[in-house]
Amino acid sequence: MKKTKPIIEYLVASDFDQTLSFNDSGIVLCEMLGISGFEARVAGLSRTHLVQQGAELAYLLRHDPEFRMVRREHLVAAGKLVRLKKNVELLAEVFREGIDGAHFPFYVISASPMEVVRSALEGIVPAENIYGTELQYAANGEISAVRRVSAGYGKVTVLQDLEARLHISPDHTIYVGDGSSDHHVMQHVNSRDGHTIAVSEAKSIGRIAQRTILSDNALSVVLPILEDILRWEPSRIRNFFAGHGLTLQDWDKIRTDWLTFHEPPEEAEVAEPEESLLQEEALAG
Ligand SMILES: [Mg+2]
Repeated sequence: MKKTKPIIEYLVASDFDQTLSFNDSGIVLCEMLGISGFEARVAGLSRTHLVQQGAELAYLLRHDPEFRMVRREHLVAAGKLVRLKKNVELLAEVFREGIDGAHFPFYVISASPMEVVRSALEGIVPAENIYGTELQYAANGEISAVRRVSAGYGKVTVLQDLEARLHISPDHTIYVGDGSSDHHVMQHVNSRDGHTIAVSEAKSIGRIAQRTILSDNALSVVLPILEDILRWEPSRIRNFFAGHGLTLQDWDKIRTDWLTFHEPPEEAEVAEPEESLLQEEALAG
């Protein structure tokens, strides 16, 4: 009987905001609607730790009076205004076609409202492969509830559901992300021998992720997959990019160690006895 080669499958799950795009979709939405101070609101909310990191927009949409005007169509429209990184389409295509016989089912798990992400990636990633925060709407179109938030630990539960549904073992899971909303899921993936890729310089994520890749081109995240998982040589990797019409201009490998030292405490000032006092003592002696 002819043996069939087993299909090698890796689940690739990616964050959306600032991983596949340049800006947080909350900022895009607020600019579109003329709502000011988004970052300050998020920072204030974040300090209270009331919601999972990354879930601030979902909270504001439901509870901040200024966001009461937001309707589903605004979220869809904001998605169209999100500026994607270069070659997101090509990245999705590469994963769809597979690399060297290995399959890479590609999913997006974002803390942003599902409507925004699905709209931004329409025609690039199938809607059913995109998980975002699920909102509920009232009859008048107002956001009436937050049904499920895929931020922080919420991303772990989505990922676990996907692994179970696709029958992919955790050591064949790859997670790509940039920020605080990805901490939980990256630690989870690491602890189960999966692969984690950071796409930002943020120290907090860099120390968790196994690899950090900085580029304005979304296809760059396949680099650690080719290197660490498929064990390709650099020349083959260059050819791979060239084969997709991309010439690698710079490929700098920098291992960065961030060091900050505490300044030694100022020497406690030893009170010098005043000169006049010394003289007095000398006289007395
Ligand atoms: Mg992000």
